[in-house]
Amino acid sequence: MHTPKRKDLFMALKTSQEYLESVKKLSPKVYVGGKWVSSLLDHPITRSMVMANAAIYDLAQQEPFQNVMVATSHLTGNPINRNVNVCRSNHDLDMRQEMALLTSQTVGTCNYRCVGCDALNGLASTTWEMDRTLGTKYNERFNRWLAGIQEKDLAVSGAITDAKGDRKKRPSQQDEPDVYIHITEKRSDGIVVRGAKVSQSGAIGAHETLVLPGGALKEGEEDFAVAFAVPNGSPGLTYICQYNAYSAEREMAQDESELGNPVFGQRETSTMVFDNVFIPWDRVFLCGETKYCGKLITRFAKTHRMNCGGACKVGFADLVIGATVMAAECSGVEKIPHIQDKLIEMVRLSETSHACAIAAAAKGREEPQGSGVFMPDDLFGNVAKLNIAHGFWEIMKLAGDIGGGLLVTMPRIKDLDHPEVGPLLKKLFQSAAPAGKRFKVAKFLQHWTAGLHGPGTWHGAGAPQSQRVMISYLTDFESKKKMAKKLMRMEED
Ligand SMILES: Cc1cc2nc3c(=O)[nH]c(=O)nc-3n(C[C@H](O)[C@H](O)[C@H](O)COP(=O)(O)OP(=O)(O)OC[C@H]3O[C@@H](n4cnc5c(N)ncnc54)[C@H](O)[C@@H]3O)c2cc1C
Repeated sequence: MHTPKRKDLFMALKTSQEYLESVKKLSPKVYVGGKWVSSLLDHPITRSMVMANAAIYDLAQQEPFQNVMVATSHLTGNPINRNVNVCRSNHDLDMRQEMALLTSQTVGTCNYRCVGCDALNGLASTTWEMDRTLGTKYNERFNRWLAGIQEKDLAVSGAITDAKGDRKKRPSQQDEPDVYIHITEKRSDGIVVRGAKVSQSGAIGAHETLVLPGGALKEGEEDFAVAFAVPNGSPGLTYICQYNAYSAEREMAQDESELGNPVFGQRETSTMVFDNVFIPWDRVFLCGETKYCGKLITRFAKTHRMNCGGACKVGFADLVIGATVMAAECSGVEKIPHIQDKLIEMVRLSETSHACAIAAAAKGREEPQGSGVFMPDDLFGNVAKLNIAHGFWEIMKLAGDIGGGLLVTMPRIKDLDHPEVGPLLKKLFQSAAPAGKRFKVAKFLQHWTAGLHGPGTWHGAGAPQSQRVMISYLTDFESKKKMAKKLMRMEED
């Protein structure tokens, strides 16, 4: 592998400071809990999202992490951030999943460039196939766009999930057509799109968003078959941010130090509303080719399931396990056998999922042949995600068990500084550790076990039923029956 020189790297890769400067120039129309936000860096909620992106830009500048965070562009040969790389080998796939692990361990929230990275890998493979089979020019167009993104080291988020309306109905049968992104006009210079994408991780602080169809489509659904790149804050685009108890807590906090994940917060998403947004042709990578939507989404999904399922959530689990050990130490139970058993069970659950991601990368292959694009193994990618969807709840249950009721009954951390109740709390909550340390650990675990991460892990990269469907499709049950019959010395039916 080409190992980029340090000097080159600093020229090719954005620093966190450069990213923060670039965010100041963005002017998306963002709405958070009843208010329009004029500056992403000045609002406590949007700022946490931007700071997480900045920290991940920083990782690529640090020598020990460059093997994971820096790749070589197949388009230019230059060193690039792995978040905008197309996987060209099993090694690339392995480093991609390692990046998901590392970024989660570093920020304890999303790598907000993750979905975009997997979306661009799905597009690299599918546009190549479309050009070869249909004679289109999508791949050329996509590569031109990608080379620009790589050169400027831009943050790209990925928009796949439509609002979807009534799940019994196809996109074209919905009473409200805007529940799916669709084309309303084709012009000589581009297309106009309407609709919404929901649960969009970090789209507010991304320079661009890659929009893909949310699922396989049929003939007659051409208006919904569209993939494109849209710059942040394009006219007609509105971002309505998620808002919940943790958002309110962050808004009300005197300072970040009293929060569960002080700087980087929870996973911040928004609903992106497209109100007749114009997309020039050079940013359109699929337009009407319904037959290729299933392939595109399947390629995106298995890549995302390897990364989001088998690695990102394992990084979260590492943080939860680390804090749980600290909680046990604080209360003096760390050597007790059932506590040790539970800690080992947490490690077993998370490392098994990581093993699936490593296997998905190792057994990945070029898809389609000749494209040069490597995709993870389908079965291991899906198993990785399904495994952690269940394992993560279990890990959080065990963290809650060891952490005790304090995780949800604790007073405010700031109460320790109160002139009247502070001394009382310090006296009553001292244990094998001072009350301040105990509260800090408990607050961190509260953020995970009583926060948003359970449903987030369950649904991110697709609800588990979609992985079950894929696993059932990918598994050759007949060949397994055959093996068993052979050992039983049972005649074939
Ligand atoms: C924290 C977080 C971050 C996310 N980030 C992104 C992002 O950056 N980009 C992005 O595009 N998406 C993102 N998502 C969205 C995520 O991919 C979806 O939540 C997931 O695919 C499930 O879709 P849904 O939320 O619409 O659930 P639903 O579709 O409402 O599913 C709810 C239940 O209904 C079932 N169901 C739904 N439809 C059917 C059907 N037709 N047949 C049978 N059963 C059905 C499901 O299996 C599930 O049990 C994120 C989600 C979370 C929680």
